[in-house]
Amino acid sequence: MDYKIVERSLFARIARMVLKSPNVAMVLGKSIHLSGVDRQTFLDDKGWFEHELCHIRQFQEHGFFRFLWLYLKESYRVGYYNNKFEVEAREAGMKHKRFFSEQLKKEAGAVKPSGLPLPADVKKEA
Ligand SMILES: [Zn+2]
Repeated sequence: MDYKIVERSLFARIARMVLKSPNVAMVLGKSIHLSGVDRQTFLDDKGWFEHELCHIRQFQEHGFFRFLWLYLKESYRVGYYNNKFEVEAREAGMKHKRFFSEQLKKEAGAVKPSGLPLPADVKKEA
């Protein structure tokens, strides 16, 4: 998949300040914007990485502005956690852990929608 990682992103940093979160990964189009987490740590966390790749697919599938609009509508309609785009991304993030323990599955599921009406996710340290 065609994607780009932006470390120490200003966008992700703003999201992080708003959310008062230690780390944020936010997808805008084909770019994954990171703040509070470096590229390697992020890539090593397969569950998180796959989750964000799923948001990139969603941007490609629906188009940039249309996806942002659909995501926003979903957020207002059903809340962040039940937002179908987050549900899909959470499932994508858990796929590679299919053969692993329940504990690992829980960790993969620990990527949380941020509470912003944007495909931004936080992963708090355990
Ligand atoms: Zn997400």
